[in-house]
Amino acid sequence: MISIVCPFYNEEDAIPAFFSRVLPIMRRIGEEYEVVCVNDGSIDGTLESLLRERDGDGRIRVLDLSRNFGKEAALTAGLEAAGGDAAIIIDADLQDPPEHIPDLIGGWREGYDVVLGRRADRSTDSLAKRLTAGLFYRVHNAISDVPMPENVGDFRLLDRKVIETIKRLPERRRFMKGLFAWVGFKTKIIEYKREPRYNGTSKFGGWRLW
Ligand code: UDP
Ligand code: MG
Repeated sequence: MISIVCPFYNEEDAIPAFFSRVLPIMRRIGEEYEVVCVNDGSIDGTLESLLRERDGDGRIRVLDLSRNFGKEAALTAGLEAAGGDAAIIIDADLQDPPEHIPDLIGGWREGYDVVLGRRADRSTDSLAKRLTAGLFYRVHNAISDVPMPENVGDFRLLDRKVIETIKRLPERRRFMKGLFAWVGFKTKIIEYKREPRYNGTSKFGGWRLW
């Protein structure tokens, strides 16, 4: 079974579009799947909308966090709950195109433990975001023994053994991308074009990213 793990924070408007793109792709792949949706303390109709989707497809599971803990904690909860032989982490706003899910699974079937999506370009990001992201990776990779691949987000597939390793890490305030890089494993990179946000605005303003 493949687990799709997706964090949702005030994404009610994106939810119908998200499922109408993800579910047909998963059905076509012909592998068993579940969609683990983590409601990260949304204050709009996200929870109600997720529960409605779940009523229509028993493979949708909904975790409801007691408040907004942030994406890193929501992903931790989602990976903890995922029961698949592999998990695919994807954003709710369709910036990570679900059409690449078969490529991620293809890499896994080739024998890779981690299959990463790397943005072919960052043209959908603002100049300020591109400059600060570039600086972040340069500084991080200069001072760290474990380099973090540039232009890589959380859109990725993790084999069960990677999930189990991540679950054993004791960190409580987590930077998932850093932990994903730290655990290692045989990794394949696929290129993708990051799409603009389906609707609404990023939940990570300049201050929060800092
Ligand atoms: N998200 C979350 N908790 C938060 C902020 C964001 O679960 O406190 C989710 C959000 O719903 C989306 C993903 O994390 O599915 C990425 O958020 P966003 O698109 O706002 O970030 P960006 O794409 O700008 O990095
Ligand atoms: Mg986004």
